[in-house]
Amino acid sequence: MSTTIVRATCPHDCPDTCALLVTVKDGVATEVKGDPEHPTTAGVLCTKVSRYTERTYHQDRLLYPMKRIGKKGEGKFARISWDEAIDTVVTRLKTIAAHDPQAILPYSYAGTMGLVQGESMAARFLHKLGASLLDRTICATAGGTGYTYTIGARIGTDVEQFQNAKLIIFWGGNPIASNLHLWTRAQEAKRRGATLIAIDPYRSLTAEKCHQHIAPLPGTDAALALAMMHVLIRDDLLDHDYINQYTLGFEQLRERVQEWTPERAAEVCGIEVEQIEQLARLYGETALRGEGVAIRANYGMQRVRGGGMAIRNICCLPALVGAWRNAAGGIQLSSGDSFPRDVDKLRRPDLLPSKHTRTINMSTIGDDLLRDASPEFGPRIDALIVYNSNPVAVAPESAKVAQGFAREDLFTVVLEHFQTDTADYADILLPATTQLEHTDIHSTYGHLYMMANNPAITPLGESKPNTEIFRLLAARMGFDDPCFKDSDDDIAAIAFKRDDVRAIHFDWDSLKRKGWQKLNVPDAPFAQGGFPTPSGKCEFYCERMMVDGLDPLPTYIPPYESVRSSPELAQKYPLAMISPPARNFLNSTFVNVQSLRNTEGAPHLDIHPDDAASRGIVAGDVVRIFNDRGSFEAKARVTDKARAGLVVGLSIWWKKLAGDGKNANEVTSQRLTDMGRGPTFYDLLVQVEKLTDSVRSA
Ligand code: SF4
Repeated sequence: MSTTIVRATCPHDCPDTCALLVTVKDGVATEVKGDPEHPTTAGVLCTKVSRYTERTYHQDRLLYPMKRIGKKGEGKFARISWDEAIDTVVTRLKTIAAHDPQAILPYSYAGTMGLVQGESMAARFLHKLGASLLDRTICATAGGTGYTYTIGARIGTDVEQFQNAKLIIFWGGNPIASNLHLWTRAQEAKRRGATLIAIDPYRSLTAEKCHQHIAPLPGTDAALALAMMHVLIRDDLLDHDYINQYTLGFEQLRERVQEWTPERAAEVCGIEVEQIEQLARLYGETALRGEGVAIRANYGMQRVRGGGMAIRNICCLPALVGAWRNAAGGIQLSSGDSFPRDVDKLRRPDLLPSKHTRTINMSTIGDDLLRDASPEFGPRIDALIVYNSNPVAVAPESAKVAQGFAREDLFTVVLEHFQTDTADYADILLPATTQLEHTDIHSTYGHLYMMANNPAITPLGESKPNTEIFRLLAARMGFDDPCFKDSDDDIAAIAFKRDDVRAIHFDWDSLKRKGWQKLNVPDAPFAQGGFPTPSGKCEFYCERMMVDGLDPLPTYIPPYESVRSSPELAQKYPLAMISPPARNFLNSTFVNVQSLRNTEGAPHLDIHPDDAASRGIVAGDVVRIFNDRGSFEAKARVTDKARAGLVVGLSIWWKKLAGDGKNANEVTSQRLTDMGRGPTFYDLLVQVEKLTDSVRSA
C-alpha cells in the first residue's frame, strides 16, 4: 500500500485559507488535516473541511456531462459525452454571439477562491468571446469601497498580531463560525488579559463568549461609530501627533461628529447611551496607553443601504487614537490588497473585442434575467455560464431569480460538483473537479501567505478542472491565442508579480513544494502613515467620495427598511431580519453533506420571546416569514439571542433541502448599497406568523 501526504489549500470563501495536508492511500484521499506548521492554520481545520473527503467522494458528485431532459428546474438529466457537451455549448454560443456576444453572461463568484480555477482561463475565454462583464458584488464590495476610500486599500492588521492586543472588537461578524483562526488568536489575547467585545445585532456564538456584547439594530453601525468619534474628540482621547502627521480632514470631522451625541446614536441604534460612552472611552484610553486595540470588522454590517459608509466610519477610529502605531492595533476587514496579484495576466482583459462591453451586476440577476432588450440595457440575456456559484440559492429576491432561470429561451451552462438549486435549471451540466483533484494557487483575505494547492487524487469520473473545460470550449470556438494553451502550472506561475517587493521570492515550483510563503510586508503597515490613498493619509475627508457623488465626510445613511426609516412599511412588516452564515455551512456549500446538515437540523428562525409571545409562537412551531417579495418557512427557536424586533434565519440553505423548497432569500431585496453596488441582504422588514394548517394550505 502506498501512502503519500499532499500539500493543499482550502479553497472556500473564508478568510482563513487553511494549509491542508491530504493523506492519500493507493490513490484514495483518506484524510484532510490542517498543517501544524502553517502559522495561522496551526493544525486545526473547521468541522466543515475536516470532512472534505465526505464531500469529495459524496455519492451525489457529478461525474459525467449531462443534458437536460425535463423542464427547467425539474433537475432531470441524461448523460452525454464531453464531445457532445462541448459541441452543444459552442454551437449555441456561436449562434448567440453572431447576433451580439453581450447576450452571453458569466455568473461566478467564490465557490473556489483559487486564482487558477477561479477567474483565469474562464475570464480569458469570456473576454475573447465578448460576453458581458459581471460586476462581482455579492459579498464584499460595499465594505471594500468604504475601506478603500478611507485607508486606500484593503490592507490591515495582521491576524498573527491579534493575540498581542489588549482590546479586540468584533464588529459585524461571528469568527467562531467564519474566521476560526483569528478567534483562536483572540482567545490567546483573552488569556493574556485582553478584553473582547462583540458588536452584532445577534448574540452569536462569538458574542456569547466575549466579555461584552453590544447589539445595535441592523443598519445602524455607522451611527455607533460616529458617536464613538464624538466621545473620543469631546474627551480628547486622541493621538494628536498621529492625526497631524497622517490624517486628512480632522477639523471637518470634528465639526461633523459634534451632532452625533451618544444620546442621538443610542436612539438610532436601539442601545444604551452608557454602552457607547464606555466603549469609546475603553477604546481611546487603551490605545493612548500604547496597548493594541484591534477591530476585526466583518462584512455583516455592510449588507445594508449605508453599509459602505458604516465601514468607512469605523475605519476612521484607529487613526484618531493612533492605534496603527502598534502592530496589534488598527483594523482588519480584508488582507486582500496585500497580495500583488497579476490580474491582467491571469484574466487577459486585453482580449475583449470592445472597450464598451456592458457590465451586469450579479446582485440584480433576478431583475436582469427578466429584462427585455433596450437601448439602455443592451441585448436580453440569452445565455448564462455559471461556475463557482449557486445563484438560485444565494442571490437576493430569489423568486425572481428562479423565474429568470426558468425562461425556456435562456441557454444555461453550469459547471458544478453537485446538482445544486442552480444546476437544476441547466441545459448542459458539466462536472467540475474539487480542490483535491486539481492545481491552484491562492491569495487570501485573512492572512498574508501565498498558498499552493497540489492535486492529491485523479479527477473522479469524467470531471474536469474549470480551466480544462474553458480550454476545450476555446479550442472548439477556434480561439488560437497562445494563452488558451497555458497549463494550470503556467497560470499559477504568473499569478503574482515577481517584480513587486511583497512577492520578491515567489517561485511557483518552490511554493508547490513548501505549500505556503509569507508576503514580504511590514508588521505594522501604517505605523508611520503611508496610507495608499491619493493624499498618502487616512482620509477623514475624502475628495474622491465627493467626485463619486457621496458625502466626503463620515455620515449616517439609514436602512431602506426599518421601523424608524420606513414606518408605514413597518406597520405591515414590523420585524427586521438578518440571515448570517450557519456554522456548518459556508454560504450554500456543504448544505448537502449529510453529517453537517444533521448538525444544523432544519431551517430555523430565532425570535425573541416577546415577539414570539405576541404572535402565539412557541419553540418548535413552524412559522412563515414573509413580506411583499415572498415567504419561506422555518422552525421557531424562541430565544433572546435575537434582540426584540429582530429575527435571525441562519443560512444559506439549499432550497430543495428545506421543507418548503424555499430559503431566506425569498424575502431579501435587490436594492443596492450606498457604494460598491453591493446587495442589501440584511436590510429588510418581515412579518412572522405561526403556520397553522389552514394558512399552509392557503
Ligand atoms: S473553511 Fe476556513 S476555517 Fe475551514 S478549513 Fe477552510 S479556510 Fe480553514
